[in-house]
Amino acid sequence: MVIRSKRQIYIGILALLCIWLVYPYRVLATSGAADTVGLPVVVIDPGHGGENNGDESTPLFEKYRTMITAQAMYEELQKYEGVQVYMTRTEDVDMSLKERAEFAAGVHADMLYSIHYNASLEHEIFGAEIWIPSAAPYQAPGYQYARLWVDQMRQMGLHLRGIKCRTGNNGDYYGVIRESAALGIPAVILEHCHLDVPSDLEFADTEEEMKAFGRADATAVAQYFGLKSESLGVDYSNTKLAEISSWEAWVFPLGESTAPENCVLTKVAQNEESGEVTFRIDAEDSNEGLQYYDYSLDGGASYGHIALWPDFDMDKNENTGSVTFKVTLPREDDTEIIARVYNAYDQKTESEPVTIHFAYQDEMREAALAWEAEQAAGGDAEGTQSTDTGGDAAEDVDVIEDAAEDAAEDAIEVEAADKDAVSAEAEVNAELPGMQAAGSPNPAAPAAEVQPLRIVLAVIIAVLVLAIVLLGMDMLRSSRRRRHRKEKQIRKADKKNR
Ligand SMILES: [Zn+2]
Repeated sequence: MVIRSKRQIYIGILALLCIWLVYPYRVLATSGAADTVGLPVVVIDPGHGGENNGDESTPLFEKYRTMITAQAMYEELQKYEGVQVYMTRTEDVDMSLKERAEFAAGVHADMLYSIHYNASLEHEIFGAEIWIPSAAPYQAPGYQYARLWVDQMRQMGLHLRGIKCRTGNNGDYYGVIRESAALGIPAVILEHCHLDVPSDLEFADTEEEMKAFGRADATAVAQYFGLKSESLGVDYSNTKLAEISSWEAWVFPLGESTAPENCVLTKVAQNEESGEVTFRIDAEDSNEGLQYYDYSLDGGASYGHIALWPDFDMDKNENTGSVTFKVTLPREDDTEIIARVYNAYDQKTESEPVTIHFAYQDEMREAALAWEAEQAAGGDAEGTQSTDTGGDAAEDVDVIEDAAEDAAEDAIEVEAADKDAVSAEAEVNAELPGMQAAGSPNPAAPAAEVQPLRIVLAVIIAVLVLAIVLLGMDMLRSSRRRRHRKEKQIRKADKKNR
């Protein structure tokens, strides 16, 4: 081509200048592709930085974590062909939300991905969520990317809190989305997990895990733009994006949302032995799905048992339902239990309190009263014979009286059998210590009539013994006399014979 005039040279220079102005940063593209014009442009924004630490609930502040994840996302995307990737910051520096949006506009980004980790005021909420633009035309690409991203988080095992948008501040509530939209760029905020809840922190407590989040974010980007990677051996060129018409069923719009209308706590069963109580919560929300439930065992002063509403599914966005749960409560005291339900936007409604009382407490109290009454009844029986103590104590007195009567009857039988009356009395006294039954005969009294008979018997025996002794003595004397007479006769005969 022959240059014919100075005018043509000027037009040529002007045209080149225009091209350079329109694609100023693409010359710096990192993909290494010779022709970078028309390639998708990705801007990764590590959230916070500099003075702005983000979440500080762990020693590794959020700003450091977002950098680790963002760099892994950047490196992963380097493995794909036909994409240009930028980072809003690579140093620990302050950067306003507007500056981040301006950077994305400067490189003509197709989308800005702001990398974050989450935390909540009450440190109880868990799961991953993504915030997308609330207005057309930016909400459609945001929604289509979000659908791919939540699948990645689902595969990692996280609870999915939803694809969300929030209005306010004359547009989108979140600055980086609002400022980017103002410059014609769709932006999304990726909230990976909650750092202030142990079960969620488990997903990000090592550098490798934080990098895994970055690679997952990158995979969703590659799918969205239909990228290929020879080194990774993947080809997403046939990825089908979500129907934009379906977005209303997916995105929970924050703004018109209200807390759940109903939260009713009911006791279903109570085990008096183990203390286990089964409850049911019935809840309803006219705007959003029900997401979590929790309960307090101190009348609402503290919670701390948060769990997922059964079958919470961000796809379905169920508005009504019920959940049952079991708690083992102390049987010694009454427990005032209050339940609460959370909707998809974490708005909460508390139930009326339910007080749980165990019969165990009454049994303990009755046993204590009975013991006291027994002590009191024992004193009365010894003293005034009063049976006006009522209840168990009066019954006890009756039993004792019956026993006394039985014992007295036994004593009479003993006497009839002509046993020793005194020992019979002792037996009665042994059976009834300190007790003389009223109206019963004195068992010792008949013994006095027995005495004269024994004296008469003794006298008769004594007379008989005396008679035998005297008879014996008399017989002895008469036999001696006979012997003397014989001896005299023999001596007389001897004298004659000599
Ligand atoms: Zn953040």
